[in-house]
Formats: sequence, structure tokens, C-alpha cells
Amino acid sequence: MDNRVFIAQCDTYDNAKAAVDRVLHAFGGAAAILNGKKRVLVKPNLIMPRNPDAAATTHPAVVSAICAAFIEAGAEVTIIDSTGGPHSKAVLKMLYSKCGMEDAAKRSGAVLSYNTKSRTVSVPGGRVIQKVSLLAPVLEADLVISAAKAKTHSMMAMTGCMKNLFGCVPGMGKPILHGKYPNRPDFAGMLVDVCETVKPGFAILDGVWGMEGAGPTGGDPKHLRVIAGGFSPYTVDLAQCHLMGLRLDSVYTVAEAAKRGLAPDSPAQLEWLGDNPAPLRTNFLPAVKHKGDIVPTIKESCIGCGDCIRICPKKCMELKGKKAVIFAQNCIRCYCCHEFCPVKAVALE
Ligand code: SF4
Ligand code: SF4
Repeated sequence: MDNRVFIAQCDTYDNAKAAVDRVLHAFGGAAAILNGKKRVLVKPNLIMPRNPDAAATTHPAVVSAICAAFIEAGAEVTIIDSTGGPHSKAVLKMLYSKCGMEDAAKRSGAVLSYNTKSRTVSVPGGRVIQKVSLLAPVLEADLVISAAKAKTHSMMAMTGCMKNLFGCVPGMGKPILHGKYPNRPDFAGMLVDVCETVKPGFAILDGVWGMEGAGPTGGDPKHLRVIAGGFSPYTVDLAQCHLMGLRLDSVYTVAEAAKRGLAPDSPAQLEWLGDNPAPLRTNFLPAVKHKGDIVPTIKESCIGCGDCIRICPKKCMELKGKKAVIFAQNCIRCYCCHEFCPVKAVALE
């Protein structure tokens, strides 16, 4: 277990490159992290096509800085993610364009992947799943870097470097797993299994601006002023949890990682490097106030697009009079509908 986490105070994305370079330097620099490896896959959080200012996705300045550092160290760097909807070239094109990844790739020299193939692989030592389908470019990389966004999350309470890797499961594979593991601890266990299969070689958190409240897509940007990183995504997650003022036992993924001995169970046991985290600590409003037992409701602002209906793993939603309705008795409280509504019309109150 590597308990080191580097904290770089970063007030604005104009300084993202300097902050990312400080993080990498603390671990020997990009060349040392590569350790002879060539093909690097950077996995940002591109949950849906959103402008970077919405704080739902990893900022292009952070992605570009990571890519540039590894390219300079001699690597071939590819960027990819997959939303919870269909995983197609057209969707990727829209995603990259809207999230600023075209610009990040152009500035750094990285390649945006449009490879939509995937493969089912076994999960070594899987506790919840024994097999999982993963994006082919992830499986073909020598080194995967989780480049996450600091956000609250309606189902897991928080999303960071470990949860970010759920995006390595292609498209509609994600709602299927939601439907299979509706229980939160099981879902967190599945996420750890995915992370252990992807085995990222480094993890960097974009917490310059995070998201509080109705995350991972419907909340509000909050200034956290941090770029953090380390070899272990679990360690960086634990630090993130502390920085966002979230209770450790409320974050299922962090609790599961600690239970498996993959991370300490207290931020006091982390080896904090870089800037002092104490003045940076900022309390984030949680995504769900009642610990995930609320059936979502549909607001008047619903535009009847049907995105929630297509994503709902239990098929317990339909359109009535051009508005979505939820059949509460079958709802598993996965909050996929909340996550994917483009106009924030799904309430968790
Ligand atoms: S209604 Fe929403 S929260 Fe309930 S199962 Fe469907 S997607 Fe999940
Ligand atoms: S995704 Fe949002 S806007 Fe679209 S139908 Fe569902 S609730 Fe309405």
C-alpha cells in the first residue's frame, strides 16, 4: 500500500500545468513513473458532454498538463472515456468537443481515441464480480492514469480517482451493473473490483473546482483549489474525502478500499506531501441528505427527452404527457436518472 499523496494548491486553471508538474515531480517525474513503459492511457472523467466550467468533468487544462508531461518523457499518450449511454464514435466526438478534450489533445500532442471496441476480462481476486467488459484501449495501454474530478455523488457519496475508472466499462454496461448491484456496499465492492482490474499506474485529482450538492452532474461548482496525486487511487480518494469534509463512513468506495486493506481508514495515516491540506479543507454539501434512501422525483422542468428512461436499469420510468414518471416500487435508488438528466429535472429531496 502506498500511502503518499501530494497536495498542490492551485487557485486557477491557468496554473494547472505547474501544479501537475509539482505532483509528478514528487514521485520522481513522468519518466520515473513510466519506468520504461510506452503506451499511456489518460482516463479523464467525461461523464457527459458538458462545458468544463460546469465542474462535472475533468478540466482540459489538467488533462493537457498530464498528457504533455508524459509525452515529454517519451510516451505515446491516448485519451478516452465512455459515458453511461451508447458508446459510439459520434458520442465520443460530441463528448470530446464539448468537454474541451479536442483542445487538450491539440495542445499536448495526445491522441483522442475513437476505438469503441471492448473485451471481457477476468477480475483477479474479484469479490463481487469475476468478469468485466473494459474498453480495448484501456486493456492495450502499458500505463493507465486516472485523471478524476472531485465531486459529490448521489449513490456513492463521492467520486474521485477510483470511481472514475467505472468509465472504463463501455456505455450501457454501466447501467447493467447498476441493475445487478443495487445495494450500495455491493456496488462499491464492484467498483473496487473494476479498479483492481484496470490497475492504474498513477492517479491525479482535479479539485481546482469541484462539484458539491447534487453531484455527479447536477450540483454546483465549488472552489477547492487543489490538484492532488499519488500512485494509489485509493490514497488520493481518502485525501479527497478529507479535503471535501465528507465523513469517511459515508463514502462507500473509500470504506470498501479500507476494508480490503488497500488504503488506510483514516487521513491521519496518509503521508501528506506538498502543501498543507488544513487551510484548503472546504466542506462540500452532500449529494443526498438522507444517505441514499430517497426515491427520486421529477420536476416541472422535465423536457421529456427520455434520457433517464433509456438509462434506468430497472425500466421503472416512462413518459406520460411528455414528462417522465417513476414507478417507485421498482426503483433501486441507483440515481442513474439523476446523473444523466441534461436539465437537472430529477430531484433527490
Ligand atoms: S428511477 Fe432512477 S433511481 Fe430509480 S432505478 Fe430508475 S434510474 Fe435508478
Ligand atoms: S432526462 Fe430529465 S428532462 Fe429528460 S425525460 Fe428524464 S427527467 Fe425529463
